[in-house]
Amino acid sequence: MYKIAIIGGGVVGGMIARAMSKYEGKLVILEKESDVAMGQSKANSGIVHAGYDPEPGSLKARLNVRGSQMMEEVCRQLDVKYRRNGTLVVGFDDRDMKTLEELLERGRRNGVEGLEIIDGDTARKMEKNLSRKITGALYAPTGAVVCPYELTVHSIGNAMDNGAELLTDFEVTSIVTREADERGEDLFYEISARDGRKIQAEVVINCAGVHSDEVAKFAGGRPFSINPRRGQYLLLDKEAGGLVDATIFRTPTVMGKGVLAVRTVDGNILLGPTSEDIDDKEDKSVTAEGLASVIAKEAEFFDSIPLDKVITQFTGLRAHGDTGDFVIESPQKGFINCAAIESPGLSASPAIAEMVEKILLEAGAAGKIKADYQPEVKGIVRFKNMTTEEKNDLIAKNPSYGRVVCRCEEITEGEILDAIHRNPPARDIDGVKRRTRAGMGRCQGGFCMPSVAELLSEELKIPFEKVTKSGKGSEITFERTKTGGEK
Ligand SMILES: Cc1cc2nc3c(=O)[nH]c(=O)nc-3n(C[C@H](O)[C@H](O)[C@H](O)COP(=O)(O)OP(=O)(O)OC[C@H]3O[C@@H](n4cnc5c(N)ncnc54)[C@H](O)[C@@H]3O)c2cc1C
Repeated sequence: MYKIAIIGGGVVGGMIARAMSKYEGKLVILEKESDVAMGQSKANSGIVHAGYDPEPGSLKARLNVRGSQMMEEVCRQLDVKYRRNGTLVVGFDDRDMKTLEELLERGRRNGVEGLEIIDGDTARKMEKNLSRKITGALYAPTGAVVCPYELTVHSIGNAMDNGAELLTDFEVTSIVTREADERGEDLFYEISARDGRKIQAEVVINCAGVHSDEVAKFAGGRPFSINPRRGQYLLLDKEAGGLVDATIFRTPTVMGKGVLAVRTVDGNILLGPTSEDIDDKEDKSVTAEGLASVIAKEAEFFDSIPLDKVITQFTGLRAHGDTGDFVIESPQKGFINCAAIESPGLSASPAIAEMVEKILLEAGAAGKIKADYQPEVKGIVRFKNMTTEEKNDLIAKNPSYGRVVCRCEEITEGEILDAIHRNPPARDIDGVKRRTRAGMGRCQGGFCMPSVAELLSEELKIPFEKVTKSGKGSEITFERTKTGGEK
């Protein structure tokens, strides 16, 4: 019997796992995919929102502002890239300027510090490539950027280092409430996976992203539904990194915050996302119309966009709920929903974990604090960022750091081996990519993918043909055409 089972290995499940791994009692994370960070937490803008956007008094507002205050320290502890680059919400006419005034007022009510309205010229002094048509902007100095999948992977790694277990390919299909004593005072939950595995837990925490409404139904409570809202992006090579540094937003509409332009923590330019309500919770396709609409909207920000530097495009699906706010509540003893966590869920994630920890402490559902709890993680060595002397020392100790596998991002074999063997272990090519950036550069893995697959095959002791790009069914080869000398 587990003390706590967390359903969903996204950033919310990860942050909660990390917070609760501090206490004694077995904890397990159940994830339907073959790796963590496969839902919204993989494909988003990576912005730590300042907190001027959500409705005052909402959970979104409170947890966004608190999460944004916590994020820098959390990233330090988890060795995750974080940059406080500030946010500019730009306006083009009097109507936009009125909206910016409203945002300023809302931000102040939410407790966001340092907000100010600036004129177009001041905005262009900050960001030289902004269009001359911009008449003013709301400046939020506390806005920041993080690497969202690194934050997710490291939070779950930290929980695992502190004893948490991770079960992947575990798609929860049923949860049955059981009574441990005759009076029905001690409940526990039996959780079943699609493949027939079953586990039991005293506490269930539902962090299932776009599927969190379906998981919530197992415990009853107030009904709500999640409608996937698609966001498509274009990612530009680091060569285009001079386009912008701060995060640039259009004034928001009812469909959300609109498109943005930002330099990511890794130095790429990210453009998007679209905001499209769709029916299919798994449809992560990218469409020509979607990308064309991103380009048209981004053209309002800049006179010229180096579109010849686009290296990839991707889609994320927002868990858009019909209640208008995050759903964080306990519909029955030992069951907590963290549902409808759309934007600003990444920013709010440390604060969501803090709130859930408090709920569990108040319910007496947390054990004693472990004497050997370790809140910090040391990330994978970034060979590329070392001095020549440091590189030489490292290679002398471990020659695998002397072999560069991904040339675009300068990622060594040593870093890839570390990703395969640390918590949570990389099991496929995209898992290695999210942890090390091998394959994230200009050639998008065209050069290094076979070498990464070889390393996975050797280290996991599986045939090369069984190595997958991203979980079951995504094998990249079928059989060997050359067998090393055999005819
Ligand atoms: C396009 C887009 C842009 C965004 N931009 C930002 C931003 O800039 N800043 C910000 O703060 N927020 C942003 N967000 C929101 C943010 O990404 C999310 O709020 C956050 O990632 C939510 O994390 P989560 O763990 O709740 O969900 P997810 O990351 O979706 O994780 C849920 C996990 O549950 C698993 N799962 C689902 N069903 C089951 C099941 N039955 N059994 C087992 N596992 C299951 C999924 O596979 C998934 O791994 C954006 C979101 C999108 C899509």
